[in-house]
Amino acid sequence: MRQFLQQVQRVVVKVGTSSLIHPNGMINLASIDELAFVLTDLKNQGKEVILVSSGAVGVGMHQLNLAKRPTTIPEQQAVAAVGQAALMNIYNQRFTTYSQQTGQILLTRDVIEFPESRQNVINTLEQLLKMGIIPIINENDTVAVDELDHLTKFGDNDQLSAIVTQLTQADLLIMLSDIDGFYSANPMTNPDAKLYAHVPRITETILAQAGGKGSQFGTGGMSSKLKAAQRIFEMQGAMILANGKQPKIIFDILQGAEIGTLFKEEQ
Ligand code: ADP
Repeated sequence: MRQFLQQVQRVVVKVGTSSLIHPNGMINLASIDELAFVLTDLKNQGKEVILVSSGAVGVGMHQLNLAKRPTTIPEQQAVAAVGQAALMNIYNQRFTTYSQQTGQILLTRDVIEFPESRQNVINTLEQLLKMGIIPIINENDTVAVDELDHLTKFGDNDQLSAIVTQLTQADLLIMLSDIDGFYSANPMTNPDAKLYAHVPRITETILAQAGGKGSQFGTGGMSSKLKAAQRIFEMQGAMILANGKQPKIIFDILQGAEIGTLFKEEQ
């Protein structure tokens, strides 16, 4: 089932805020550094790598010394504006250590609805990859606001990472979270929850097993990851949800090791 992973040529990696920020609100430099190392090495192996990174609000909170995530949309946008620049600065420092160039792309999810913007995004991404540059993508938080659901959805890059995977026709989306994969129930509240190694389709049962709330700094929660997985199924693609605590597991994932949950149709 996982043999195809060794042939993966183009990969999108999505990291959640919980992989970038310690629970106490400080920046997780070890994790960010390891991520830069791993992604650069994959590129050096000849693969094409795209990073979709959350964390702008988390890093902004750190920069501005805020203990609590602000609740209004303009406040969150302001914090994200500060945090996005700071986050890119940290990424650039780390990637530069490994002599890897990165480029920042800020997108809104609706790019796919406008053929011209869609094509421009594809052109930019393809050009960056051709130049050996790792694109680092985030949602353009100043523009993109899900008015009705901003408290839970703001800054959630799960859908965006699936959209980027579609736009670039990538072979695989690796979604790194604060949890080992998709379980039969939320393991934070249910100790009997079992980890799925493989989910071949999104069913009502699977949807019902995604518990409501996400982590303290994370925003999307599991149902948002399932929505992303649904997009991947629609393109007959593959997605792996795994723990981002140690980004080096990406090497093992691409060797085909049974890590995390694979979302892919049975062949
Ligand atoms: P991140 O910010 O790392 O992307 P989220 O906080 O958005 O992560 O989502 C991960 C969280 O989803 C987990 O910490 C867990 O509490 C919750 N969750 C709810 N239901 C499930 C489930 N069935 N399997 C795994 N995690 C679940």
